[in-house]
Amino acid sequence: MEWGRCSEKELKDLEAIVGAENLSTGESALGLVSRDESYYTPKIPPQVVVMPASAEEISAILKIANPRRIPVTARGAGTSIEGNPVPLFGGIVVDMQRFDSIIEIRPEDFITVVEAGVGYKDLNKALGRHGLFFPPDPGAAATIGGMIGNNASGVRTIKYGATKDYVLRMTVVLANGKIMEIGSLATKSSSGYDLARLFVGSEGTLGIVTQATLRLAGIPAHHSAAVATFPTLQAAAQAVFDIMRWGFSPTALEVLTADLVQMLNRDRGLGLREEHTLFLEFQGASEIALEEELGAVQDLCQEAGALSFQPGLGIDERNKLWEARYETYESIKHTHPGADPFVADVAVPISRYPEILEYTAEIIRDHGVTGYPFGHAGDGNLHVVFMGDASDEEEWGRIVRANEAIVSRALELGGTCTGEHGVGIGKQPFMEREHGASLGLMREIKSLLDPQGILNPGKVFP
Ligand SMILES: Cc1cc2nc3c(=O)[nH]c(=O)nc-3n(C[C@H](O)[C@H](O)[C@H](O)COP(=O)(O)OP(=O)(O)OC[C@H]3O[C@@H](n4cnc5c(N)ncnc54)[C@H](O)[C@@H]3O)c2cc1C
Repeated sequence: MEWGRCSEKELKDLEAIVGAENLSTGESALGLVSRDESYYTPKIPPQVVVMPASAEEISAILKIANPRRIPVTARGAGTSIEGNPVPLFGGIVVDMQRFDSIIEIRPEDFITVVEAGVGYKDLNKALGRHGLFFPPDPGAAATIGGMIGNNASGVRTIKYGATKDYVLRMTVVLANGKIMEIGSLATKSSSGYDLARLFVGSEGTLGIVTQATLRLAGIPAHHSAAVATFPTLQAAAQAVFDIMRWGFSPTALEVLTADLVQMLNRDRGLGLREEHTLFLEFQGASEIALEEELGAVQDLCQEAGALSFQPGLGIDERNKLWEARYETYESIKHTHPGADPFVADVAVPISRYPEILEYTAEIIRDHGVTGYPFGHAGDGNLHVVFMGDASDEEEWGRIVRANEAIVSRALELGGTCTGEHGVGIGKQPFMEREHGASLGLMREIKSLLDPQGILNPGKVFP
């Protein structure tokens, strides 16, 4: 079936809904909403971008699009890496930037009510005044709606979990324009199907989220950080496994290869030993408890063969390290001017982390590609930033094949094709293998909620 296009009259109707200043058909505005951080581009360019400001406006837009099968793609900050918000088949892009209000902060209930276009960093600034924070932390300038779309997580997942663990209630507009309230304000509930969780990670393919009630955590009083170096990736991964196995709960446990440390030293003047490295972070209620935990973790690292362990870093040094870790992607791009990034993202059961790390290093060598592996080791999540020339078919082909090999191995190890970046376009080829018959069930859910297939078409399903 063909995709619909807005007629002149429908464009006028959209303008009447959002206001002329909140609609654009201009080339540069459409260009901006056609891309994310990946290299995927629309097959059919989008026709119009609208910036509604209420669930009712989105409902009215969908009521125009649905009967005519015009694609509608929600867009947050566009920081995805797998083509998730790329409007593949044209149509209407719903830019959520005017959903920018923090509606309520209820410190006594550890909850906040926010609109979907609020940036999580801005939210955390506001929450900080109440001694609270929203823990999922993807690093990039993501919005709450985009984080819900991709079930984003990040460096602190190991202790705090992912976005799905924090969404209590939300307002969603369905493809037919119906506005639904789902979930409750209780932090636990056994009441029926968990619809909120169904929408988290659905990448805008089941409905458009306009508002969410989020669970919050208290900002811990004390922090500590450490850096450990290892002669092999195997030894670093073994230390990660032992730390988890003995029940310690670091807030972050990040692994960086020696090559990456060398690159960060050059780019950011870190002065670290250029070995395979673990960044560790702990948070707690008392300094004494933190010191004890760090002492025991140091023993475990040394038993795993650590070359060095630098505990109890001061606040400035800790901030510098974490800033470098957050900026890893930018540093890699900076070090390879003119080259294109391709980011791999897989997750495996924690006991198989050493294996996937070793295998990844081999694959990079064997395919003759430039790639920097690093990852949220504590939850078995591995990233590789490959750098190459996307217009060079031969070189880019080697990068794509290296990525395929890593994803295939992650699946063989019982893992997933995407730990946190979502399926988008890039991970579709692996969905059948990962989910088998249950992918069919996902398709049935999609056609029940969006029978015309207008919401972010061409995503998630191969
Ligand atoms: C340098 C860098 C580092 C990153 N590190 C991490 C990381 O550590 N962890 C991690 O999880 N991710 C990471 N990401 C990926 C990305 O930042 C996250 O997935 C983020 O949550 C995307 O948010 P966004 O606002 O940019 O959403 P977008 O990219 O705009 O959209 C994401 C998806 O959600 C949908 N969507 C957007 N808004 C809504 C809405 N209101 N209702 C329904 N659907 C909606 C879109 O259609 C799309 O499918 C990183 C990205 C970069 C560039």
